[in-house]
Amino acid sequence: MSELRPESLSAQGLGWIDETTRAVTPPIHVSSTYLRDADNQYRSGRVYMRADNPAYDQPEAVITALEGGHQTLLFASGMAAATAVFQALAPGDHVLAPQVMYWSLRNWLAGYARSWGLEVELIEMTSPAAVAAAVRPGRTKLVWVETPANPLWTVTDIAATARIAHAAGARLAVDSTVATPVLTRPLALGADLVMHSATKYLNGHSDLTAGSLTVAADSAYWQRVRGVRAQIGGTLGSFESWLLLRGLRTLHLRVRAACASAQRIAEHFAHHPRIAQVLYPGLPGSAGHAVAAAQMQGGYGGMLSLRVGGAGLDGEKAAIAVAATTRLWKRATSLGGTESLLEHRASVEGAGSPVPPDLLRLSVGIEHVDDLIEDLEQALAGLHPD
Ligand code: PLP
Repeated sequence: MSELRPESLSAQGLGWIDETTRAVTPPIHVSSTYLRDADNQYRSGRVYMRADNPAYDQPEAVITALEGGHQTLLFASGMAAATAVFQALAPGDHVLAPQVMYWSLRNWLAGYARSWGLEVELIEMTSPAAVAAAVRPGRTKLVWVETPANPLWTVTDIAATARIAHAAGARLAVDSTVATPVLTRPLALGADLVMHSATKYLNGHSDLTAGSLTVAADSAYWQRVRGVRAQIGGTLGSFESWLLLRGLRTLHLRVRAACASAQRIAEHFAHHPRIAQVLYPGLPGSAGHAVAAAQMQGGYGGMLSLRVGGAGLDGEKAAIAVAATTRLWKRATSLGGTESLLEHRASVEGAGSPVPPDLLRLSVGIEHVDDLIEDLEQALAGLHPD
């Protein structure tokens, strides 16, 4: 049989069988500690749950296979995974990160990371020329990319950015939460690390927080990342790991359904009298479309944003009113679950955010797309000019 396709790998969790019971889904191991051999060795390779956990083996192996990497580490959240990448650097290291990115990580970089001695520079990451101008050969140790990036869905050319980072001696890490391995494989495009908030699409059911890092090749730096997980203890629980594996089994179905509906919704509202702008890389007129078409396969993701406006409307008030009056779309933060969510993003991100006040962020779930469109239409029809 030829090499299995990603859908087949994830549907069966790589086809692993529990050797003790012949179960096709794994047991949940909950032991925090492991027996030492009489001769003082740990031949099982397990010592203590904060360093490692058998519950990680299968979901880590599935993510490694989907990303085409060397190894994956699970973390207790996407933030625990992302911050480990920076915590493994040394004081004085220079890092580049995007101005448009997941707001909580941007805040952490601008606050804690700087106070630990990292020199963090936020730049226009979608422009290879801006990246080339900002890298400092020998001093820049990491370039962090998020694509498509929250919540404007700007697109960064991973291959071009990897070439610039590597020429300067820096690693490239990609937050691929929104693209998922279904749509983009950053390591094949030259990235060194891929990060996911597995809270989102990888799990897909809004019932846990988790994060993952997948590396292209082993290195002393990657061993420091492993040390950050073991020593700081941002480790995922056994039950959450089991749930994540369950979620990964349907990843391709969920992501493809969300992509198809997001594309339909984006096209439907692109010329709507009460929508000033649709932000979605799947729209041919959007700034990132050409790069997205080249580096995303099979769709442009399940995330889009609508800027509410039109004749006589105050965009910010109108956006908040739409969020208040949808019925099927749930007014909540997060993304990547089976249920569709929408959120007035400026209310979340606060001062200093690049998000316009009239923007609603939409996470498209797997409901019928016509129901989703009709719900937004009825909420928009309820808007009254000031
Ligand atoms: N990266 C992206 C793109 C996200 O959307 C999020 C969460 O919303 C994170 C990272 C952080 O992940 P977590 O909430 O699992 O810590």
